[in-house]
Amino acid sequence: MSDSDSWWSRPLRMVRHDFLDDFAWWNTADLRKVARDKRQRWHANVEWIHATPGSWPGNAHLVTFDSERFEKVPGLKIDLLRSYVPAARAEGLRVVAYVNAHWYSHEFANQHRDWEQRLADGRAYGRVHPLYGSGTTFCPNSGWRDWLFELLREVAATGVDGIFLDGPAVYPGCCYCEACQATYRKRFAAELPREENWRDPEWRCFVRFRIHSTAQFLRDASAAVHARRPEVLVFMNSGGWHSGEWRVGREPAALARFQPVSGAEAFFHPARRDKSPWDGFLMAKVQLATGRDSLVFYHHAIGAWHYEPLPEGEAVVSATQAAAAGAGVWFGVFDPAVRPNPDRAIGSIGKAFGLLEKADSVVAGSRSLARVAVVQSAATSQFYLSALEDLYRDPATGIEIGLLSSGGEKQEKDWRKRKTWCEGWLDEEFSGTCLAFGNEHVPFDVLLTASSDAWSLDRYRVVVLPNTACLSDLEQDLLLDFVRRGGTLGMSFESGRYGADGQLRPEWKLGLAAGLTGNVSAWRPRGYEEYVEVAVEDVLPSFRAGQLVPRPVYALKVTVNSGVSVPLWFQNEIGHHYRAPQGRSPYPAVVVSRYGKGKIVYL
Ligand SMILES: [Zn+2]
Repeated sequence: MSDSDSWWSRPLRMVRHDFLDDFAWWNTADLRKVARDKRQRWHANVEWIHATPGSWPGNAHLVTFDSERFEKVPGLKIDLLRSYVPAARAEGLRVVAYVNAHWYSHEFANQHRDWEQRLADGRAYGRVHPLYGSGTTFCPNSGWRDWLFELLREVAATGVDGIFLDGPAVYPGCCYCEACQATYRKRFAAELPREENWRDPEWRCFVRFRIHSTAQFLRDASAAVHARRPEVLVFMNSGGWHSGEWRVGREPAALARFQPVSGAEAFFHPARRDKSPWDGFLMAKVQLATGRDSLVFYHHAIGAWHYEPLPEGEAVVSATQAAAAGAGVWFGVFDPAVRPNPDRAIGSIGKAFGLLEKADSVVAGSRSLARVAVVQSAATSQFYLSALEDLYRDPATGIEIGLLSSGGEKQEKDWRKRKTWCEGWLDEEFSGTCLAFGNEHVPFDVLLTASSDAWSLDRYRVVVLPNTACLSDLEQDLLLDFVRRGGTLGMSFESGRYGADGQLRPEWKLGLAAGLTGNVSAWRPRGYEEYVEVAVEDVLPSFRAGQLVPRPVYALKVTVNSGVSVPLWFQNEIGHHYRAPQGRSPYPAVVVSRYGKGKIVYL
């Protein structure tokens, strides 16, 4: 939570009750009662009301308020925003207007073909990949921005407390519209690169350009609103920590420069097998790391079944984990999930928010006392492509079915896939590190490299780099200085081997500081029967010397200088089931070295 005394710096409990395309529901609703229910039964303190619909087939061009310029949602007879704001205020509820800024029908887009985001071959993105099955999306650099800013000014004039922008994102493979080409040419005196090529500096520049396009859109949208009403909260769907965010042109820290609240989705999707039960907790930590007041968005829905509400237990776990990390909570609730059994659907939210409401005075103004920080690096998400060829072998799993076990040694050549692999390693290492601390009840903060010029590491005893491969010179120096003054640095895999733009460094400064010689190669990726050997008993109380511990699938062969301590070593490769262990290799699995007054642990 920030030091701001704005209303959004209090613990936020937000809801959006979504009637999809049934806006006529509002015509006869008792608005005071609706607002009172939100406060007393849902225990929310902020309600989102649609200023534009977010439903099929992409009706973001329609509005729910009276306007001379914009078309009203069919069937809605009241000015929804102007009618609801006073009712909500009388019941002690704030109103945030939801503005869909990413999903427009093809029919509307037909009148504005030059606003559509375009793929490198010139086709409009939404015509090739219709959004949610129908509709298209507009470019933040196109003439659409002026149209939307006018809409935002009109929304602000209705008296709402805040405006949430759901989009825009720069969609995968976009944007090559005329406006983007002209803007890029003007800014960089170059043409937009047509192919995803991570060895081309122009491509990396384009990746940053897309992120800047989204951030500058937010900056200008916010300025348009504030010219009319400076007190209105303007914020945007920020994106999270997953490495794929660059594909939609988002980076939370880049957006945080232009918004006081940073929020991202952590929807409950149990179908994903790698789903962590603490997604919201981690998302909250990452949003807070932007230095802004933060929010975690949840759908009150079982994964992709939006009309089946979360069970009470899941709603409570979702809300409390985000709040425990210091973030506010938002629930999107779809009416078909409510109508058949309101007590069940609203009861779950009421229980979750009721608990948070009781904790309001405890949570308000709270701040983290963590002494451990885990670094999340946007540069690594965006630009990390390991230079170690051996890592790109398809890992053998050794899974045994019947009397047959799987092999698999194919070398992956497609470097687009290689990039995806690198992103996977980073994401698993970052989330795994955070979850390990969480499971052990070790309080930790997340540090974003994008904010590194404002890093203050003095309050931390331990900083961890989970394969934070791409670091700037400044970040490298700050980290080494932290250790020199007595801190402990944990670093894994290729942390610091590359510069902030993804280029392999001629000298691995962090590796050398950790006692490594600088020679690096990779073990053959293998998900079975390879081991790390415990050499020193007192590393962890439950480990004994000689004990074998499963080796990570992806592991590096490094060599060390004298004077370091090696509590765990890699074993020589076994390679096959039912073959005896092959003894200790010359490669350390964990290296502990002294540096200045502090310590570096490399693994
Ligand atoms: Zn464009």
